[in-house]
Amino acid sequence: MTAIALGIPRVGVAGAPVPPDLSGRGDSPYLIDRHGRRGRDLRVSLTDRCNLRCTYCMPAEGLDWQPADELLSDDELVRVITVAVDRLGIQEIRFTGGEPLLRKGLPGIIARVGALRPKPEVSLTTNGIGFARRADEFVDAGLDRINISLDSLDPDTFERITRRRRLRDVLAALDAAAAVGLTPVKINAVLLRGVNDHEAPDLLQFALDHGYQLRFIEQMPLDAGHVWSRDRMVTADEIQERLAARFDLSPDPGARLGAPAELFRVNGGPATVGIIASVTRPFCGDCDRTRLTADGQIRTCLFSRAETDLRAILRGGGTDEQIAQLWRATTWGKLPGHGIDDPSFLQPDRPMSAIGG
Ligand code: SAM
Ligand code: SF4
Repeated sequence: MTAIALGIPRVGVAGAPVPPDLSGRGDSPYLIDRHGRRGRDLRVSLTDRCNLRCTYCMPAEGLDWQPADELLSDDELVRVITVAVDRLGIQEIRFTGGEPLLRKGLPGIIARVGALRPKPEVSLTTNGIGFARRADEFVDAGLDRINISLDSLDPDTFERITRRRRLRDVLAALDAAAAVGLTPVKINAVLLRGVNDHEAPDLLQFALDHGYQLRFIEQMPLDAGHVWSRDRMVTADEIQERLAARFDLSPDPGARLGAPAELFRVNGGPATVGIIASVTRPFCGDCDRTRLTADGQIRTCLFSRAETDLRAILRGGGTDEQIAQLWRATTWGKLPGHGIDDPSFLQPDRPMSAIGG
């Protein structure tokens, strides 16, 4: 392989291109960084749009959606993912957003990505709205796994959080996902103090009753309104305490293997519950993720303040190897951690819905 010559990531903060320091990188084809990590898991945001307005993510009025011509087309997207699988050793592709089910060509994209060899695992993180009537279509397209977000079992609380009365649709999505065999169906839940934090044990009981795998995600500073506060967020310790009031939790001895969720056996197992404590127990040292936004920017971290523009190369006639080289160079410069607890931490300009959660 030739040495990396092309990589000049665009640094979003100052706008000035900074040539990456690639000394010591060697010529590995993979997405390695100078802290010894390797990217294997690609998160792809398919759209920044959404049909819910979760308070911890989006403002009530929505956002200024990205114009259609700035978004990667289906062909561009599949080309980038093919480069990631063929040349960079990516093994898992997760489609997210915004709400990925709003992307018109989604089944076709899943089918094309699922046909790549070696076959990557293809999964979806979704709010579930509209999934129930299309579940077969997604399984036929080759979807392997699904995570459905559900923060409350109470219709009023669900509406208070998401600003839409759609609890029934989400429950139907969970049923449908299990019925078509996308098991184990995973649930993502975010707890908000004084809103739904008292529901933690009920959510776990619901998951146990249905055979779903529940994971609580600590609220992160990625909301469009910048209202997150360290003092108000519900911490992993508190989540454990709330669950311990009704369940016996013990650390799951299974290897975590780069997975963000810390797993606990419930009442001796085999059922487990996960806690993704990005803020209070960061797992950056094991991070194996890389991200592609709907408008074709690479991010090495949810909290990156810099992005690398792949769309310009794609539309400027660049080769697959040039795309791969730029991605490798960007990854080499991945920071060791997100620094949320550092007083100098600055929330990224883009909210979660535009980055891809
Ligand atoms: N719309 C889809 C959904 O809600 O599942 C996919 C995108 S959403 C950004 C992905 C996940 O990020 C969801 O589980 C959501 O609850 C979570 N999320 C969004 N904003 C968050 C925040 N500020 N802190 C922690 N998790 C957040
Ligand atoms: Fe939409 Fe997901 Fe954000 Fe909720 S968390 S507003 S469902 S993108």
